[in-house]
Amino acid sequence: MMPNKLTLATLPTPLFRHEKLDALCGAEVWVKRDDLSAGGAAGNKIRKLEYLAADALERRATTLITCGGQQSNHARATAIVAAELGLKAVLLLRTADPASPPPRVGNLMLDYLVGAEVRFITPAQYRERDALMAAAAAELAARGERPYVIPEGGSNGLGSLGYVDAMAEVRAQLDAGLAGGPRGFDAVVHACGSGGTSAGTALGARRYAIAPVTHAIAVCDDRAYFEGVVARIIDETVALAPELDREARPIIHDSFKGPAYGLASPEQVAFIVEVARRTGLLFDPVYTGKALFALSRLEPKPQRVLFLHTGGLPGLLAQSETFAAS
Ligand SMILES: *Cc1c(COP(=O)(O)O)cnc(C)c1O
Repeated sequence: MMPNKLTLATLPTPLFRHEKLDALCGAEVWVKRDDLSAGGAAGNKIRKLEYLAADALERRATTLITCGGQQSNHARATAIVAAELGLKAVLLLRTADPASPPPRVGNLMLDYLVGAEVRFITPAQYRERDALMAAAAAELAARGERPYVIPEGGSNGLGSLGYVDAMAEVRAQLDAGLAGGPRGFDAVVHACGSGGTSAGTALGARRYAIAPVTHAIAVCDDRAYFEGVVARIIDETVALAPELDREARPIIHDSFKGPAYGLASPEQVAFIVEVARRTGLLFDPVYTGKALFALSRLEPKPQRVLFLHTGGLPGLLAQSETFAAS
């Protein structure tokens, strides 16, 4: 039996095409607007949280614990969903030096606004994030809370079911005559940061005949790392939904990361600016901007593409310096 989920997102999200975006990318690009999946909690993480928060409530949790970078979209979505459900949120956020905390802008501003408890940790501590979250859970439990730990990015088998469902949603849109009707796409393209979107999309794209290949554009780490992570999440997902094909895999690209996680190259920044000015579509320099840039450079280029716009607007707003000269 499939796990239960809550209704948190506003679905289905639109499928959007803009002829100038086609020209900029050199393909027919259908944008799946998951950046419009909610209000403040918008983006890809809310689809995962529909399953994860349902599990937390079934276990009568009082506090959600999760982790991420200081501008984590996932941590922000978790904090907002916690507030909506009357739960507390504890966020372990990676920052260079916890003694001088980062400015409260973008995602971090929203974390504080909804009352999340933010605990900054160093990059070295972040490598032990699962142990640190387990320790935080033990500490809260000792105080009488009922903690529920959500892994980085909400990326486990349960969370990734949200993207299997997203592909079912696209199938229903195609069958209703949208985006050219029932024949699917040549490829799906999306940003990859913790692997859950990639696992669910690869499984769902195969299950619902959305496209023969899915391209996961890594924004950190490398291909070997993500092949391992995504394979593990796929196994977990198939354990929950045995009708899925456990051989499904994304094609992972690790040459579009730019200078570092969270930092876009000057060429990528210029591309994001160009797209914004010509289409009014906003892509962020951490995830979606790098993925769209990758699509514009992919060789060989798929002709008809489903591009997952996974959100990230607060992260864009936190990078005013990056765009100051534009
Ligand atoms: C988290 C995130 C991604 C990557 O999704 P994962 O499931 O973590 O790989 C892509 N885009 C945005 C805007 C995100 O916040």
